[in-house]
Amino acid sequence: MFDSLPVLPLFDQPAPTPFVAPEPLTKSAKLWLPKRVLFTPDALDEPFGQQIYERVMAHDLEVEVLKSNRLTNLRGADARETYRNAKNTLAVVKAPAGALRLQPTPPSADWQMNLAEGCPAHCQYCYLAGSLQGPPVVRVFANLPQLLENTANYEQPGRLTSFEVSCYTDVLGIEHLTGSLAECIRHYGTREGARLRFVSKYNHVDSLLDLPHQGHTRARVSLNAEPVARRMEGGTASIEARIQALRKLALPVALGGGGYPVGVVLAPIMLVPDWRKHYTNLLDRVADALDFDCDLTVEFITHRFTPGSRDVLREWYPNTSLNFDESIRAAKRNKFGGVKYVYQPDDMRPLKQFFYEEWQRRFPNAPILYWT
Ligand code: SF4
Repeated sequence: MFDSLPVLPLFDQPAPTPFVAPEPLTKSAKLWLPKRVLFTPDALDEPFGQQIYERVMAHDLEVEVLKSNRLTNLRGADARETYRNAKNTLAVVKAPAGALRLQPTPPSADWQMNLAEGCPAHCQYCYLAGSLQGPPVVRVFANLPQLLENTANYEQPGRLTSFEVSCYTDVLGIEHLTGSLAECIRHYGTREGARLRFVSKYNHVDSLLDLPHQGHTRARVSLNAEPVARRMEGGTASIEARIQALRKLALPVALGGGGYPVGVVLAPIMLVPDWRKHYTNLLDRVADALDFDCDLTVEFITHRFTPGSRDVLREWYPNTSLNFDESIRAAKRNKFGGVKYVYQPDDMRPLKQFFYEEWQRRFPNAPILYWT
């Protein structure tokens, strides 16, 4: 039945025939070394801010200490230059008091716990487009220990409360400069009633392997079909490198791994030409890499966009081949009147059936957390 599914023109190029799985690329992500590093005075007053300062200096980066706590002069001559400059800027700031009021983040976790906002990667469908205000500078929070302590107020007695740190950044993409993810993992290792969740498209996991996580952190990697990753996810690790990172995180400590509960986030699922073959190839490779018992989950997220995110993405990536044609989508409204465009039910149904069947066949003991 899947062969009869119409393929939506998400990419401009025609489908290759016959199907040949692309040779896996093994490239690691390049370490992000921003051209500009800004510290606000308040951030430098924080002991954790000082630690970030040391890390940044150890990477031979120049630091500008600002005179005030406001970030200014972030815009370039036009949208392209603003984007380019912002993606090359790390700003270390103190999170405002509002950051202590956590927001729910279903279905991924109970609450968001943001250690930073902004991301060094260049995904053409980026989830942050339209949700963060202003130029997409990476803002890292120097008062992280205070933010972490605050989350204890959200733990509910008698049940495990989950905190997601990946809503507004790629936590591994900035970890070499911040150490923030390690700080979170150590913190939640001491909290019996709380669980931490993160997800990444980077592969630098070695610094996480020896941390005392106590099984309280679920380490997830974001995976996709090769054509999506290669053409849409600039600056990230290759799919193969991410799969090998997943293996390292999941391997028992006695075998040199991190012994973490792990997860796959398959997102955003796209109806690219030959989608069934590409995703089959991906799932086969994950199964090959996880050839041992481990605590594994999966989350399935199909591609969607809002009018706001589409406008921002078109500005950021004017040459994108991502198709934003609303006429081949279903409009889904939320209770505040906002609209997002998702796949139509006739497309969604076979997609869902395919992923559920193929996942359960390979990983019968790994729960599917949700499909959206
Ligand atoms: S990794 Fe996530 S946050 Fe970063 S650019 Fe890609 S989609 Fe956006």
